[in-house]
Amino acid sequence: FAAIDAAAIERWIRAFAAAVAENEQELTRLDSPIGDADHGANMNRGLKAVVAKLDGGSTGGPGALLKQTGMTLVSTVGGASGPLYGTFFLRMATAIGDADTVDQKLFAAALRAGVDGVVARGKAEAGDKTMYDALAPAVDALDAAFGGEDTAGALQAAADAAAQGRDSTTPMQARKGRASYLGERSVGHQDPGATSAALLLQTAADTLA
Ligand code: ADP
Ligand code: MG
Ligand code: MG
Repeated sequence: FAAIDAAAIERWIRAFAAAVAENEQELTRLDSPIGDADHGANMNRGLKAVVAKLDGGSTGGPGALLKQTGMTLVSTVGGASGPLYGTFFLRMATAIGDADTVDQKLFAAALRAGVDGVVARGKAEAGDKTMYDALAPAVDALDAAFGGEDTAGALQAAADAAAQGRDSTTPMQARKGRASYLGERSVGHQDPGATSAALLLQTAADTLA
């Protein structure tokens, strides 16, 4: 597992921003039947602000970059996803602290801390049809691959688990967020937040190995 440095973390954040920009319409389309049709716009607005900060000159280590990302998302994204993704990045930052490089063990622990932050903030449980249903299996998959030599493979296993988790939200009835207001009518629709979370893990696999 090649050590992850600040440049790698910046690549990841920029790639996530690019993936969300590319999928903005799709994320908003998914948020139409079971939400208020703004998930793509919310995420794209926040991540554009994050990229603008990076363009302004990124300083500091992996933790500082993740902290800046989290704080920017919290302050620029209205809606549930801002505080949730913001907390994810802030908790990752705290777990990494001022380490210059992040090894496999620390990355897996930081990712888990980020996901624990999402739960602390939103109180989602498995099966509630949220981003947690994509994030939780990804963290478990990364832990399972812990200790192996194959960095790219471990990260791709996490991304694949997130994609499966995203797909698993379709038959679920929502129990958190706006989609829960629809009760049984939320069944049969893929969750937008789980979809953006799968992009987060796929871009990690694309940039951090
Ligand atoms: P809003 O619902 O406020 O318009 P977004 O549309 O940006 O915010 O984000 C909606 C997504 O947020 C949902 O698809 C779901 O994945 C996620 N979400 C909502 N509430 C929670 C929660 N309590 N815990 C975890 N994720 C949640
Ligand atoms: Mg919405
Ligand atoms: Mg909204």
